[in-house]
Amino acid sequence: MSFESLWADQSAIGRNPETGGYTRGGWTPTEREATHWFLDQCAARGLAVESDGIGNLIAWWGASDGPGVVTGSHLDSVIDGGAFDGPLGVVSALAAIDRLRAEGFEPSVPLGVGAFVEEEGSRFGMPCLGSRVAAGVLSAEKALALTDRAGVPLALALEQAGIDPAGVGPSPLLQRMGTFVELHVEQGRGLTAPVGVASSIWPHGRFRFTFGGEANHAGTTLMEDRHDPMLTYAMTALAANKQARLAGARATFGRISVEPNGTNAVPSQVTAWLDARAADTATLELLLAAITKQATERAERDGTTLEVTPESVSPIVNFPTGLRDRLVGVLDGAPVLPTGAGHDAGVFSDAGIPTAMLFVRNPTGISHSPAEYAEQDDCLAGVEALAAVLKDLAK
Ligand SMILES: [Zn+2]
Repeated sequence: MSFESLWADQSAIGRNPETGGYTRGGWTPTEREATHWFLDQCAARGLAVESDGIGNLIAWWGASDGPGVVTGSHLDSVIDGGAFDGPLGVVSALAAIDRLRAEGFEPSVPLGVGAFVEEEGSRFGMPCLGSRVAAGVLSAEKALALTDRAGVPLALALEQAGIDPAGVGPSPLLQRMGTFVELHVEQGRGLTAPVGVASSIWPHGRFRFTFGGEANHAGTTLMEDRHDPMLTYAMTALAANKQARLAGARATFGRISVEPNGTNAVPSQVTAWLDARAADTATLELLLAAITKQATERAERDGTTLEVTPESVSPIVNFPTGLRDRLVGVLDGAPVLPTGAGHDAGVFSDAGIPTAMLFVRNPTGISHSPAEYAEQDDCLAGVEALAAVLKDLAK
């Protein structure tokens, strides 16, 4: 089946007609629909699908045991995300397998297509949830303690998706991942060729800032009598932007929750989540320290309190240079670039699986938005590159 028809088919699933975006949180109905589409595609190709206790999937072409070369990505999305982040890697993997089969290529080791769950962490707040649990870096106990925004525990979400939560834990699927190659849309404007190869993933942290104050009447409370955590938060959001610019890093407050959230009340509490990333761990730590310092000083002036809780911190991932250079060689000197975005590939690399990533050019650099886009010709170049890499790794 051609990439174009696979893409048209897949990208119709769960698209919001009003925004053009996708909201495919892990184990939600739209994400399940995309997963069932994937399973149907695997069945149509006679690929043997293996799943693990949290719902990660690998569909195999070739011998049914022994380690193989796995490619793939994820089918979940951020809230109102774009079409390409994740699904491009899964659809390109299927298209690359079709292409190799049509050529009569016979792999010497099994080739697998993976779809890994809740990569974005948009439902349970933990990025790469499926791969972290699979790799054993997040315990079953900690994973099962997670709840979504509606208060649904992970165990219930799994049960609703027909998955027994008793199976959550390190995944046997990883034993069969001899090599992993993830194709992904580039998420900035750093790639000017159609296809590039990843060097590293920036370290990344998610931190919860809890600003405490005193709820009071918006009309009768004198301005000087207030302990308003919204002011502390507002200054902190500006400080984060400034400090990230100074450090050549990234800092974003993209989610807040306000108590009591009333138009006519001074808030009692503001909870805000900071997403911070930098080229190296030292810069990330300095960035967080600088933002926290400014926030603390402002809290003193406002008579509010501040608590900073790390929710997840991922260290830098340097992909193995040998494998990276091999891909660059196969692709006739494709450019090599780092990324500020996290990926399951980083988790698998840290777990000791030789891992590489291919990026497909993003002309606007927009990602995690309905406006995320890649040219069809570049997507086709991505499929061609992935097929060439798989052929080289499985020859
Ligand atoms: Zn992604």
